[in-house]
Order: sequence, then C-alpha cells, then structure tokens
Amino acid sequence: MADKESLSDVRNIGIMAHIDAGKTTTTERILYYTGRSYKIGEVHDGAAVMDWMEQEQERGITITSAATSCAWKSKRINIIDTPGHVDFTVEVERSLRVLDGAVAVFCAVGGVEPQSETVWRQAERYGIPRIAFINKMDRVGADFDRVVAMMEKRLGANPVVLQIPVGKESEFEGVVDIIEGKMYAFDEETLGQEIIEKDIPEDYRNRFTAAYMVLIEKLADFDDGIMEKFLDDTPVSATEIYRALRTATLNLDLVPVLCGSAFKNKGIQPLLDSIVQYLPSPLDVPPMVGEGKKGEEISRKADADEKLSALIFKIMSDTFVENLAFIRLYSGRLKVGDKVFNPVKKKKEKIGKLIRLHANKREEVESLKAGDIGAVIGLKFSSTGDTLCASGDYIVLESMDFPEPVIGIA
Ligand code: GDP
Repeated sequence: MADKESLSDVRNIGIMAHIDAGKTTTTERILYYTGRSYKIGEVHDGAAVMDWMEQEQERGITITSAATSCAWKSKRINIIDTPGHVDFTVEVERSLRVLDGAVAVFCAVGGVEPQSETVWRQAERYGIPRIAFINKMDRVGADFDRVVAMMEKRLGANPVVLQIPVGKESEFEGVVDIIEGKMYAFDEETLGQEIIEKDIPEDYRNRFTAAYMVLIEKLADFDDGIMEKFLDDTPVSATEIYRALRTATLNLDLVPVLCGSAFKNKGIQPLLDSIVQYLPSPLDVPPMVGEGKKGEEISRKADADEKLSALIFKIMSDTFVENLAFIRLYSGRLKVGDKVFNPVKKKKEKIGKLIRLHANKREEVESLKAGDIGAVIGLKFSSTGDTLCASGDYIVLESMDFPEPVIGIA
C-alpha cells in the first residue's frame, strides 16, 4: 500500500525543445532549485548558480545523464533525456515510451520551430500529456501571445494560458498567475529564489480578467461541474480549477502554458509546481503492454506487487567508467543481488548495484519499484532496448520490429 501511495508522487518527464530554445538552461535551473530544496547546495551570492553548474560539468554527469532524479515539495521528478537534435529515430521513440509527461520549451522569439513540431507530433502519437514553457521572455522581440497562437495554428494544440508575462524584454519582471489572481515577481539579485507576491498591476487587470474567462470557458468544455457554474455565473474555486485542469491535461484536451526566462532565473519554481500539478504519475498512464513467448500481448500494471518488467532505455559510462544501464521499471520490483532474465538475449543477469542519479551525486539504493527510473550496474549481456523480467515470467517490452533509426535528416 505504501508503494502505491508513493507512486502517485512520482513524475517521469521529458523536456522537449527545438535546439537553442533553452532546454539545457531550463534543466539546469530545475536541478538547481530542486537541489536547494534538497539542501544540496547553499547559495550566498550571485555567482553561486554558475559555480554550481561548473562543478556539475566537471563531474560530467548531470546534464548529459540519460535520467536525473530530483525532488520538489516531497514529490520525485525524474527527468529523462529526450534527444532533440534528431528527427524520427528509435531513441526518440524509446524515450517517449519511458516518460509519462513532458514540458515543451519554446523560445519566446522563435516560437514553434520545425523541430518542435516533429517532437510534438511524436508525443501526440504516444498520448503524452504536455505543458508548455515559453522561455526567453527577457529577449528583444519576445512575444508571448504570438507563440500561443503558433501552438494553436502550427501544432493544432488547445493551449490554455495560466500566466501573463509582466513587463517585456529587459523589463520582464514576473507573471500574473491566472488561477491565484496574483502577480509573482522574480528577483534577479537573489537568483529568483525569493518570489515576491504582488497585487496584479493596474494595467494588467483587464488582460487578467479576459484570460481568467478563457480558462473557465475552456475548462467548461471538458468539465460538467464547471460548465454548470459558468452558465449560472457562480464562482469556481481554485481547487476545482486545478482538478479539472489536471484531468483535461492528462486527457490531452488542454495544454497549460507558462512563461519565464530560465537564463534570468525567472519562472522556474512555478514550472516545477505545474509539473507536479498537471503531469501524470505512473498510475495515471495505461498499463505497459509487451509480448509473451508466443507473441501474445501481455499487459503489466504499474504496481510493485506485479511481476517484474523493466526496459533498458540507455547504456552509458559515467566518469567512474562503469556501465550504467538506465532502466524504467514498469511493474514489480528489483533488488540488489536479484537474478533476472533478459528474454531478448536469452541470458540471466545479476543486479550488482542499483543507483539513482541526482543533480550532483549518485545515490546507491537497495531496490527500485514499479514506476521508478534508475540505473543498474553489473549487467553483462544486456543492451539498449532489452527487457528485464523474472525467469518464469517472460515478457518483451520492445518488440524486435521496433522502428530502426533513420539517420541524417536534419
Ligand atoms: P538548448 O539547445 O535548447 O539546450 O538551449 P540552451 O539551454 O543551451 O540555450 C541556448 C542559448 O540560449 C544559450 O546561450 C543560453 O544561455 C540562452 N538562453 C537560455 N535560456 C534563456 C533565456 O531565458 N533568456 C535568454 N536571453 N537566453 C537564454
């Protein structure tokens, strides 16, 4: 039971973006703020973010890691690396299977670019709920409304604006939060750590009211309770809005839209709140389907008490020159010392060590369970795309006719 409770606190997400939109910077800032909430890094002055990032780069593991685990307000967020520089490849497809939800980062100047379109459509095909973060609001030419319009036109998305940017370009100061009806200002001096709550500025009141009405109208399309209140002109509570918006996002009906400037440390904490609020836990996604010995379909629920099924989604070496096999456990549990079966290679494997990678440390753990992401050390025969299961409970998660990479389309 405890397993099931904590499963609802897990978010396995990817960050997808056109090259240069700010995926790396956004990821770094997420690790920075969650690292603080983890009390990893103490920050005393303006250089701290950079120092911290340089340290990270020396260790060479964080940003390039296939999966990084962090904690935000007692939830675990696992960030799975989604290759952004390639078109339709087996890696993109695989990473999309491993994650449950995604943050699409757009540049406030460039908007929806061709590469964002490709990955967006793949995510659509895999039924992955998304939220959008319009980054680089501090840049000259930043145009929030234009990017939202592009999401509708170019991506056929149904975006719902949850924040209005306050101030433009170098004057970009913060956001008006549509649900809370407040302004949040992010102070550059304190690296955006102190969020200053303010009343909505006078000249933003009309835009706020309009955006609030659009939000309620959009939710009413998918939620009968809100529809009734909308028709009766009865106020809708924030709790109802959060709940309905979560459902609409999980059902791929709506895409919540936020904005900020990763580089200037603005808007990252609300983004983290939204990842937790709107993106799915492993319990919110359909059971994993694989193939049995005779090619029959087998489905496995995200439950630690189910039979084991895990997909190896990446094998890489870290700075200690050990082979880390990154896995997503879909069902069951894995313990250090377990003997498991790789049905693709028809070999038994022993689980040497299990680790989780955090922003600036690797944590050895005794076990991993359904819904978790981590890495195994000590596998001898396995490669990327293979399944791990129990000897008597054959299942192959990624079929042999999984699409082969198409190379060279830039
Ligand atoms: P990626 O290719 O999507 O990973 O993009 P990066 O995170 O590497 O960012 C590309 C460039 O844009 C870098 O020079 C960043 O410093 C810069 N950048 C990222 N976020 C912002 C932002 O919010 N504002 C501005 N002005 N520049 C940014």
